[in-house]
Amino acid sequence: MAERVIPLVDQRHALAAALPTRPVAATGLLADTLGRPLRDLRISVTDRCNFRCSYCMPKEVFDKDYPYLPHASLLTFEEITRLARQFVAHGVQKIRLTGGEPLLRKNIEVLIEQLAALRTVDGTPLDITLTTNGSLLARKARALRAAGLQRVTVSLDGLDDAVFRRMNDVDFPVAEVLEGIAAAREAGLGPVKVNMVVKRGTNDHEILPMARHFRGTGTVLRFIEYMDVGATNGWRMDEVLPSAEVIRRLQAEYALVPLEPSAPGETAERWGYADANGQHAAQAGEIGVISSVTQAFCGDCNRARLSTEGQVYLCLFASQGHDLRALLRGGASDEALASAIGHIWQGRSDRYSQLRGTLAPDSAAPAGRRVEMSYIGG
Ligand code: SF4
Repeated sequence: MAERVIPLVDQRHALAAALPTRPVAATGLLADTLGRPLRDLRISVTDRCNFRCSYCMPKEVFDKDYPYLPHASLLTFEEITRLARQFVAHGVQKIRLTGGEPLLRKNIEVLIEQLAALRTVDGTPLDITLTTNGSLLARKARALRAAGLQRVTVSLDGLDDAVFRRMNDVDFPVAEVLEGIAAAREAGLGPVKVNMVVKRGTNDHEILPMARHFRGTGTVLRFIEYMDVGATNGWRMDEVLPSAEVIRRLQAEYALVPLEPSAPGETAERWGYADANGQHAAQAGEIGVISSVTQAFCGDCNRARLSTEGQVYLCLFASQGHDLRALLRGGASDEALASAIGHIWQGRSDRYSQLRGTLAPDSAAPAGRRVEMSYIGG
């Protein structure tokens, strides 16, 4: 059993977001030091979750004594929307709501309505989506759709009930998540995407059963390589099943053809089920692999992450954020907030996954200081 690191310090500290001496205007054309635009904002609306997936919120660490954030420190929906408006003015076109488990945040439909009213710099509606563990989805799907949510991504790490209960570590039945996926489809929150984190020796035997189950249903199944996120999951490289191996296993049963990315900065590599002529059989659908460990995609990473208390993180593997809440609650104007966000992004050079293999153990963000995925969203 891999050794667990219990963080002794609260790694949720942040730099004060500075107001640049030369204001950065919101033109929608912002780029970081590697020329990457800002297109995708992930907003964590809670640091709580009702699951304890070992690769994200291991039970031994996230127990009843864990210092979860007091409600007063969370951004209100109005504050989230005000900050989101500045990110959109800088070019954001897609917002993903995450957590913890975002559906645990009370009245989240109200936030979705507010975000759905925003428009991109070209005047088009934002692409608003949400990542959930599906436990509350069956009850909430219709209301989320009515509020303006367009799509959902559901995390599901196995079909076998015993395997799934072990992975979520709270004995939650797989049937209820499958009901949630069906309810999301019926409510028009599609195409529904399903994300499976593959851990060698734990659930990799579920790859083919999951593919058989979702093939031809319109649901897009993606296999995610187990990642060294945060400081608490005891990550080991020998528990990573490279995506190339996942594809090989699927090709043992199905013919697959590579598909073009559906948008710049897309994290998943798409593969379509092929017909007898080797063409993509659209009715059979597609799968994806997300290979942060073996095939890094930092080159066109256009994602920023906003924590539930208003800190901006520029990479999933970052160790420090930039505190916008202090500016927000300190009376800063929209222009000042936009300028601070622009300044932060312009200084961005993050590409941890690209560098992972080349970093000397002590030069990478020491494992003890990487921010938790449950705090900034996956
Ligand atoms: S490691 Fe960081 S920079 Fe690279 S793709 Fe992931 S979030 Fe983006």
